[in-house]
Amino acid sequence: MGLCDLCGIQISKEAKLFKASQIKRAIDFGLRPPDSVWKGSVAELSGGSKTEWEAGWIQMAKRDTTDWSLCKTCADKTETFHAK
Ligand SMILES: [Zn+2]
Repeated sequence: MGLCDLCGIQISKEAKLFKASQIKRAIDFGLRPPDSVWKGSVAELSGGSKTEWEAGWIQMAKRDTTDWSLCKTCADKTETFHAK
């Protein structure tokens, strides 16, 4: 049990683990957190720019060295980027 590291929904045993290196590769190919994470975030509510928010997210994600557990939707999305 835990939360999806990408979209934050609750996940259970169907969670799929990705290594930090796999996530970084997907980010290089265009992986971004879904709109549901941006909507209602502190950055959005305070009138921030989504581009800047994404840039901050990318920096944070690229420093991450732990495995990511993703829900099925995000896992599928991440794998799409790997396939490119
Ligand atoms: Zn997710």
